[in-house]
Amino acid sequence: MQKRKHEPRSRVNDRLTILRIAVPSPLRMSFDYWPPAGISANSIRPGVRLRIPFGRSTRIGILLARASHSELAPSRIKTALEVLDSEPLLPRESLDFLLWTSRYYHHPIGETLHTALPVALRRGAPATHSKPIFNWRLSPAGEAVDLATLRRAPRQQTIMQALHSCPGGLGETTLRSLHKDWRTVLRSLHKNAWIERCEAPPAATAKPTGRSWQPSAAQQQAIETVDAHRGRFQAYLLEGVTGSGKTEVYLELAERTIAAGRQALILVPEIGLSPQMIARYRQRLQAPLAVLHSGLNERERLDGWLAARDGKAAVVIGTRSAVFVPLARPGLFIVDEEHDPSYKQQDGLRYSARDLAMVRARNTATPIVLGSATPSLESLRNVEAGRYERLLLPARVGDARPPGTSIIDLRKQPPHAPLAPPLLNAVESCLKRGEQALLFVNRRGYAPVYLCHNCGAISDCPRCDAHMVLHQKSGRLRCHHCGTEQAPPGKCPACGAASFVPVGAGTQRISTALQEHLPEARILRIDRDSTRRKGAMESALQQVHAGKVDILVGTQMLAKGHHFPKVTLVGILDADGGLFGTDFRASERLAQLIVQVSGRAGRGEHPGQVYIQTHHPDHPLLQALVEKGYRNFSEAALRERREAALPPYSWLALLRAEAPTQEANFNFLEAARRLAEKMLDSKMLLLGPVAAVMERRRGRYRARLLLQAENRDTMHLGLDPWLKKLQTHKSARRVRWSLDIDPVEVD
Ligand code: ADP
Ligand code: ZN
Repeated sequence: MQKRKHEPRSRVNDRLTILRIAVPSPLRMSFDYWPPAGISANSIRPGVRLRIPFGRSTRIGILLARASHSELAPSRIKTALEVLDSEPLLPRESLDFLLWTSRYYHHPIGETLHTALPVALRRGAPATHSKPIFNWRLSPAGEAVDLATLRRAPRQQTIMQALHSCPGGLGETTLRSLHKDWRTVLRSLHKNAWIERCEAPPAATAKPTGRSWQPSAAQQQAIETVDAHRGRFQAYLLEGVTGSGKTEVYLELAERTIAAGRQALILVPEIGLSPQMIARYRQRLQAPLAVLHSGLNERERLDGWLAARDGKAAVVIGTRSAVFVPLARPGLFIVDEEHDPSYKQQDGLRYSARDLAMVRARNTATPIVLGSATPSLESLRNVEAGRYERLLLPARVGDARPPGTSIIDLRKQPPHAPLAPPLLNAVESCLKRGEQALLFVNRRGYAPVYLCHNCGAISDCPRCDAHMVLHQKSGRLRCHHCGTEQAPPGKCPACGAASFVPVGAGTQRISTALQEHLPEARILRIDRDSTRRKGAMESALQQVHAGKVDILVGTQMLAKGHHFPKVTLVGILDADGGLFGTDFRASERLAQLIVQVSGRAGRGEHPGQVYIQTHHPDHPLLQALVEKGYRNFSEAALRERREAALPPYSWLALLRAEAPTQEANFNFLEAARRLAEKMLDSKMLLLGPVAAVMERRRGRYRARLLLQAENRDTMHLGLDPWLKKLQTHKSARRVRWSLDIDPVEVD
């Protein structure tokens, strides 16, 4: 195989004859090829795709550069098979950005480019829009035809008849429904010159509505501040509770960006990208919009990507991976709900879309707005350090008052009742007033633990260090980590007793218990199980809005983005997991969740009330949050992080390993540690190796080595040569390993 290191010793030859190509492969290098026969290397520009022989198969690579020399002997260099693009697929800005991304995350360039491209392009599809949509209509000659003369050709008659009644012409979808041989008929009509193609009239779209209200003083100030920085890089943190009008600020800024002839890229968390939200943008902005998310098919994704690259889409809205979309004229970046962990990719190229958006904004001299009701501690630290400018939207728009919050001390309540009596009473009176209640549970399924009443043995997953969750409908035990399913044991494998009991409460059990208590109540469950079917989430939300639901029971899927004006009561059933989570970010996540879920209460004219159930009502962070709000909480949490030298006051990289035995992991990670002691900056802290908190998952053991540095440059220093050494180390053969830069979960 023709491998090359990144920095070759040069051999004097000034003719650019070698193609340096990024190929999707775990090897951390680019690969050298000769151009295809008859094509000069000089005519192929960087950013173009080529089909190349690779090992025993062929792959699709992207030209990074042309070179005059290679470290390989000429006879060992293979010849590329085919050039796939006449123009570079990626503009220079994108290519440079992706090279930077590959270096920062220490991820192979070929795989980085691969991750950034729509699937269709990875497979070699031409980078062209799908065929323009056109209609068939009668030509002047066709209009002159007397349909009665076609009595002997009934198929032609049917189609001519239909075209007669539609002067705008008919699309192929309609024509297909007229006759199964429609194509043959169309061909003969075309041969007679009775029909012709015409542009399809555009589908009816809702007229842009503009806005009917005046921005508040705070909104106005935010808008003018960002707008004044058009054409320059500046980062803003737009902080405002749910309903404070952040989206309206995005819309106004996007509108001004479009008016200036530039494009806006808006990133939203997967869960926040609802059809209602897209409809809101479409209605407001008089400009073509590209939407990119995981629910699209390959063709739709490619069309959106091309529209963004070619500048045809003025606004691009997308989830995490949209951060890679090339833009012809970038003018504004927005990251909504910037604190959301879903911006971090958890496998392959482990990038943070929020952080990368920042890099792109800087590269393209463009302002960027990070919005949140509950900013991440990272962003707050950047405000503190003067790197971001804070824009505050202080109050909720309209007359809605912020919800009141009460803590329910579970120690003083009857044990094992998922809803303590005070909360249950509050739910009842909420329903009596004809309002809606939302109960938040952090576990789906019926019962998270299935326990032998006789000996205390728990049904555990055979492949993971995790309990099996009892699901009601199937009556089976399921592992939420690997999907293993089994029938509940008839007899306890440990003691032989037949007395298993479900313990703890998931969304199903809460719904069932509530239904028994309030038989009249209309209860709707929203979690990953109940919304698996396509459109299920939509129809659930519709029911809520139509007032056909009294109580919503859901997981964190309910925490963001949705407007529930009739909800006036929110219950958080178990706050303790977050207070004592194993990850140092657990309390930050819990605080964000409480504030986000609380933001669902009392959005209409009715004030809301929030109840938090906990066994630890005196926990200082919970107190700070409830008494003085998120700002106070985050200040306290930042102090804790500073004292513990944790991010954002330090930088982390996590080396993960998994293998059929823990011994293999430790051999590898200990070797990695020894190499790190020799090769990496001596100021770097090396923590571990340790077993992961969930030591076994999907039948494989897991362990970690954590690298911690006070300074970002220190952390990255020496990582590349270290990784190359690891890649070829003999202990690496028995493990699957990965390096996570700026991990969001330290396990
Ligand atoms: P956020 O994105 O912060 O949750 P939104 O922008 O969605 O808030 O605003 C909440 C609601 O208030 C929306 O219905 C929006 O149309 C409305 N709204 C926003 N700004 C104003 C304003 N200045 N005057 C009147 N209504 C507004
Ligand atoms: Zn499992």
